[in-house]
Amino acid sequence: MSKKADIALIGLAVMGQNLILNMDSKGFVVCAYNRTVDKVTHFLNNEAKGTNIIGATSLQDMVNKLKTPRKVMMLVKAGSAVDDFIAQLVPLLSPGDVIIDGGNSEYQDTARRCNELKSKGLLFVGSGVSGGEEGARYGPSLMPGGHPEAWPLIKDIFQSICAKSGNEPCCEWVGEGGAGHFVKMVHNGIEYGDMQLICEAYDLMKRLGLTQEEMAKEFDKWNREELDSFLIEITRDILKYKDGSGPLLERIRDTAGQKGTGKWTAIAALQYGVPVTLIGEAVFSRCLSALKDERVKASKVLQGSDAKPAVKDKAEFLNHIKHALYCSKIVSYAQGFMLMREAAKENGWNLNYGGIALMWRGGCIIRSVFLGNIKDAFKRNPDLSNLLLDDFFKKAIEKGQHSWRQVVSNAILWGVPVPALSTALTFYDGYRSERLPANLLQAQRDYFGAHTYELLGQEGKFVHTNWTGTG
Ligand code: NAP
Repeated sequence: MSKKADIALIGLAVMGQNLILNMDSKGFVVCAYNRTVDKVTHFLNNEAKGTNIIGATSLQDMVNKLKTPRKVMMLVKAGSAVDDFIAQLVPLLSPGDVIIDGGNSEYQDTARRCNELKSKGLLFVGSGVSGGEEGARYGPSLMPGGHPEAWPLIKDIFQSICAKSGNEPCCEWVGEGGAGHFVKMVHNGIEYGDMQLICEAYDLMKRLGLTQEEMAKEFDKWNREELDSFLIEITRDILKYKDGSGPLLERIRDTAGQKGTGKWTAIAALQYGVPVTLIGEAVFSRCLSALKDERVKASKVLQGSDAKPAVKDKAEFLNHIKHALYCSKIVSYAQGFMLMREAAKENGWNLNYGGIALMWRGGCIIRSVFLGNIKDAFKRNPDLSNLLLDDFFKKAIEKGQHSWRQVVSNAILWGVPVPALSTALTFYDGYRSERLPANLLQAQRDYFGAHTYELLGQEGKFVHTNWTGTG
């Protein structure tokens, strides 16, 4: 009798193929399937040649080749392709079998699919998969959520193939329903923020006249300090890269693309009412960059500052930029964790925040030493209400805030845009303010709309004033 597979994987594009090869290398027998079936044969005869991977010619054939309870993982384009495959799989599977969606699905879709499949006795998992092609092949960060009964059935495979931080797997059960995909979405939003912060640091360095080699040297230095991370490392390499015509970076059109997960994070932030300002600015910065033609026209007519970027001590200012980036990054992650905390409250998820930091510590695009510091903060205090209040991060901001203020205020005086660095500082100043001017806002709302307000010391009692009458 031919061997039965431990798991089936549908979707033979870049992520699916690499994840199958990863599973095979860890000793699991995988059955590969793809909508365009020719790709299965091609995969078996090329990339999968010499492995234990088997293929299927139809979904029925694939299901027949699986050990029970069956585990079927999809890595297909998010959206209707996932629903189409689920609809085709349901009549072929039995109660207790598991369907896993490893694509970048919206967390509300995952929650809906969980509900629909529960009534059919099938277990559903929506798992974030991060790390791109390389991660999928050698160890991604995995963020599974959905029906908890599915976790014991897939845990061994998931924790074998994922990245490791030391000996610890960068994969843990996240929570019920759409929790896994929500956490993956926040991860992607944070990635947008980290990238924007690095771009602003680069822009300041460039406008101060540093050469690409000098910038690469600076990023290399940062990569050996508290900012040690994958994104700083690749930025150094990009700055160093030259082809036959010289440095490539300066010839790349300055319009950023996006696939939507950063936007989803910003939308979720607005829906849950959490001020995730840095990711929001990072998304809008990509939108502004995309208005290239308008910017070119505006650059010829709109006046900026007369002050040109210049500093007396370049090395000192570069150190200021590093601290500004680091402090802003702390704010960005604090905001991301605030969003997860609020979503967890509303959806009844019991999120393990230290565990999430550990999942992101290795394998994924935002992997960094910094995430180890976050994990430690939640280990010290699992009930930590905000990262900014942890001693380690509080001290880091105390140390860096003078530099942060120098960078933001100088950039504004010079007319250099620093949306992420500045919104982070403004958030910090707002968060640490006992009083904000929202008293006036409440009065305005009451003036024009009789929306009422509370008096200090009389919270819970809402009163209205006739502002045009006598007091
Ligand atoms: P992709 O380009 O997003 O999707 C291609 C796969 O989806 C192919 O197997 C394709 O089948 C299938 N597909 C597309 N439309 C379909 C439909 N209407 N019905 C059935 N199948 C359909 O592939 P990918 O880049 O490998 O990504 C897979 C998933 O992982 C996506 O959700 C993506 O967002 C997520 N992801 C990607 C990355 C990355 O770095 N690429 C990282 C993390 C997560 P055919 O061959 O028949 O067209």
